[in-house]
Amino acid sequence: MWIDVHTHLEMLEENTEQVLREAEAVNVTNMITIGCHPNDFEKVCTIAEKNYPTIAATLGVHPHEAKFYSTEVEKQIRAKADEPYLIGIGEIGLDYFYNHSDPEVQRDAFHKQMALAHDLGLPVEIHSRDAEDDTAAELQKWKGKVTGMMHCFSGTSKLAKAALDVGFYISLSGVITFKNAQNLRDIIKDLPLDKILVETDAPFLAPVPMRGKKNKPAFVSHTAEKVAEIKGISLEELSQQLKENVKKLFPKWKF
Ligand SMILES: [Zn+2]
Repeated sequence: MWIDVHTHLEMLEENTEQVLREAEAVNVTNMITIGCHPNDFEKVCTIAEKNYPTIAATLGVHPHEAKFYSTEVEKQIRAKADEPYLIGIGEIGLDYFYNHSDPEVQRDAFHKQMALAHDLGLPVEIHSRDAEDDTAAELQKWKGKVTGMMHCFSGTSKLAKAALDVGFYISLSGVITFKNAQNLRDIIKDLPLDKILVETDAPFLAPVPMRGKKNKPAFVSHTAEKVAEIKGISLEELSQQLKENVKKLFPKWKF
């Protein structure tokens, strides 16, 4: 069995039942759907509420949308905190590649949402692009207080080390199957097995051999197979380990 720890079900054109059927057919049994923009929170929550515990959810304001973070939005997230399906905060973080929100505004929203996660006792899903030093500095402030994962990790070994140092998990996406991702595969060789997760980030970044198609949770098995190959372990061993990792990082998710 495989668990997709980061997907955007509200962005897929297929209805959720179809997505789940296709996932089940290839033993993708569970998934976490991620809120990025306050406008989508209700949709994300409805999908998780209807399908929990097969589907769980996180809510957060993506660095692209950081300018929309406010005390009002914080209240919206807090209002869902007691729902069983709300198992984390995210995706949050920094993206200096696109800078859709001003970097200063991004850092402020990131910090405030780390504080929110701490207050609610929930793990975080982090997005980091071209912002490694600032991401690492923020995570360091919460060492021992907030746990979480680096979503769609495609950074340097320095960022991987910084994340592991604060007890974070490294979530691997279809990017690790891309031809030009040898650096990333080299980093994976050194990652401890008990700190790895897999995700699709669907509808984006479909793994080889599905590259170019619209991604979906069913495709997470291709990423998992690549991880098993890099680590030189069986699919069974990897599957068991990944499930344990998910249970550890997201203790609220009872599945
Ligand atoms: Zn995402």
